Amino acid sequence: MEKRKAAWTEEQVMRTLEALQKNGMPAIYVATKAEAVEKVAAMLREGEVISCGGSVTLVESGVRDLMKSGKYRFLDREQIPAEEVYQKTFAADVFLTSANAITEKGEIYQVDGNGNRVAAMIYGPKRVIVVAGCNKLVPDVPAAVERVKCVAAPLNAKRLHTGTPCEELGHCCAEGKDMTAGCRSERRMCCQYVVTGYQRTPRIRVILVGETLGY
Ligand code: SF4
Repeated sequence: MEKRKAAWTEEQVMRTLEALQKNGMPAIYVATKAEAVEKVAAMLREGEVISCGGSVTLVESGVRDLMKSGKYRFLDREQIPAEEVYQKTFAADVFLTSANAITEKGEIYQVDGNGNRVAAMIYGPKRVIVVAGCNKLVPDVPAAVERVKCVAAPLNAKRLHTGTPCEELGHCCAEGKDMTAGCRSERRMCCQYVVTGYQRTPRIRVILVGETLGY
């Protein structure tokens, strides 16, 4: 496994892969985003209906380009009205997404503003592929909560110019570590908080990438 100038360690990656596996979420590690695209391609069949949540990781990794390649029936929000995509996504063959954080205990943590991404992830599409850079690894759920409040949300706020307090502050305006504490903004990005801790059937598969991807 390649060591990179980053905050994660090989031991952390191995612990996370093992824990995800134990929690019924088969997980693999790849060193590069190019390998991640190859793995995703191997998990998809031509002509399948595929969909995804909004994700910087899928763009940066090249997975979104694969989805748009014409080999699949991609429910693309850039081409189809979002509401139509949200509805059709529930019947899709495959849903692709990233994660806001993945814990070393094998939990996937997601925070949504609309709920469409977490809804599709936890119920609907027959298969779900989570692609996440190792920068998303954290020890446990409290660290995942902190990661969203202090890293993911502020960076997304800056990218999307949400005008939420975290865009200016660089962290959530809410004091303390309460998971659902947040602002009262009309454009609040943090509304649904989902921890996936176990899967009874292997519907969700995880590809951990040894690069920094997304927020
Ligand atoms: S609750 Fe509001 S201020 Fe806090 S991180 Fe989310 S969008 Fe930013």
